[in-house]
Amino acid sequence: MSIQMFGQPVSRGVAIGRAVLVASSRVDVAHYFIDAAHAPAEVARLRHARDTVVQEITTLKADLPPEAPPELAALLDVHLMLLNDPMLTDATRHWIEVRHYNAEWAMTAQTDVLVRQFDEMDDDYLRERKADIEQVAERVLRALAKEESLLPQVSHSRDQDGGDPLVLVANDIAPADMLQFKGSVFKGFVTDVGGRTSHTAIVARSMDIPAVVGAREASRLVRQDDWLIIDGDAGVVVVNPTPIVLEEYRFRQRQSELERARLHRLRHMPSVTLDGQPVELLANIELPGDAANALEAGAVGVGLFRSEFLFMNRNGELPDEDEQFEAYRAAVLAMSGLPVTIRTVDIGADKPLDRMAVHELRHEHALNPALGLRAIRWSLSEPAMFRQQLRAILRASAYGKVRVLIPMVAHRSEILATLDALERARQQLQDAGIPFTDVELGAMIEIPAAAMTMPLLLQHFDFVSIGTNDLIQYTLAIDRADEAVAHLYDPWHPAVLQLIANVIAMANGAGKSVSVCGEMAGDVAFTDLLLGMGLRSLSMHPSQLSSVKQRVLRADTARLAKEVGPALASADPAATWLAMNERWAQRSRSA
Ligand code: PEP
Ligand code: MG
Repeated sequence: MSIQMFGQPVSRGVAIGRAVLVASSRVDVAHYFIDAAHAPAEVARLRHARDTVVQEITTLKADLPPEAPPELAALLDVHLMLLNDPMLTDATRHWIEVRHYNAEWAMTAQTDVLVRQFDEMDDDYLRERKADIEQVAERVLRALAKEESLLPQVSHSRDQDGGDPLVLVANDIAPADMLQFKGSVFKGFVTDVGGRTSHTAIVARSMDIPAVVGAREASRLVRQDDWLIIDGDAGVVVVNPTPIVLEEYRFRQRQSELERARLHRLRHMPSVTLDGQPVELLANIELPGDAANALEAGAVGVGLFRSEFLFMNRNGELPDEDEQFEAYRAAVLAMSGLPVTIRTVDIGADKPLDRMAVHELRHEHALNPALGLRAIRWSLSEPAMFRQQLRAILRASAYGKVRVLIPMVAHRSEILATLDALERARQQLQDAGIPFTDVELGAMIEIPAAAMTMPLLLQHFDFVSIGTNDLIQYTLAIDRADEAVAHLYDPWHPAVLQLIANVIAMANGAGKSVSVCGEMAGDVAFTDLLLGMGLRSLSMHPSQLSSVKQRVLRADTARLAKEVGPALASADPAATWLAMNERWAQRSRSA
């Protein structure tokens, strides 16, 4: 049966493929593709884990005390029976051999299929048996966890095999896990939870593949292998579409590919408005390897390198100074002399470190992480770690133009402590005779308090960059990662726009550079408005650069500037802005 689901559109375009469900399991399970040649070894690993569990349960049963209730022995028999049932064993092997899932993924995928079948049974007794399946699967997963996986992970086996395209469906994907899917075979993503500017959504957008988040019931309603359409423009997911719907979406897919190819041709054109104003278009990156995409897309620098992604997926180890230096230098060298703005680590909120690292650094899970010890607050609470990062960034400055960006500053004490840490890092390098050059220091404007105390920030920083994702979150008190309040996360809210306009005006007035690096920068719905406010620098995902450039090339900033005032003063800036621009378009058509 074909069904439709709705969520938040995250990344443009249409993806069509078979669903791969990343089932949530009580045991932490790695999901990766194995090389086809290693399938027999992976099957053997699974068989070995299963045999271990059979042995465990047999021993458990033999050791049952005589007074143990007879149901217990019967239950263990059921578990032994399940372990020998082809529904579990053969089918799990099938996911490994045909889909090239690793053994843990295959086990959770098949458990998920069986649990759903049991859920649909009319017989209460049989329905209850699903708990047994889950328990048995959990035992096998634990046995697998004890065995070292010797198999290399590959991300392209499906494409190499020419199989059906795959799309990923999950309840939630942590930003760190999403990062692992970069460059993988998946053509699209759907998650049950998340908002448009959650970091999971941001990483999906940086991968430039269609994605929908906050689709609530998706991972419950979609089944392994269902055909799915993911409409990343409208936030729609169609499960098992009819042939007519499928044809319609295939047509749209082709149209959107043609449009992309057309926009791509703009990448080497200078970004200048109709009235001759140059507009700097920069790229947001997560890893040094993304710099190549930035250049290819025509970016004239990196406006935001989210360095915290270097700190994720590390089993508790944090990158040391040399490792960080290598990563920053790689990005700087890849940009061949163009500026690279490295943001100091923004850990916390929806980007936690993995558990071990957090434990190591003595910070337990915060009550309200978005308002807790994140970004510069966290860095200042770990002075040695912070200085290490600053030294690594400074060292990279010997290889190109580097700028340092500080996330979430709001207090004078934070500014002074940051300046002090930077000075100490400089001193340490100087004493050790390690080369570095002068770097500009910038502040992210993400907290309303910072947007309202611009003179203080401008006094200490060389440039500012507006993080609209957080600025909106903190102005409207909306958790950006919570789909339940996603409808209230409104960049058009007059309070948000007034804060942004104020920051741009104050920075321009002080002759200091100001950029927007939040998701608003890559959304063409806001390009004219931001230009009208006086903004001349935007930083976004490389994939968004050409469409924004197209808007810049058609913009008349003198006219737009006149329209900003009335829009900001109105109760409904979106409607006012749209109406004014529609009137202008009509006048120019009839002229
Ligand atoms: C922002 O808050 O707008 C921003 C760019 O930073 P991040 O999305 O990483 O929090
Ligand atoms: Mg932010």
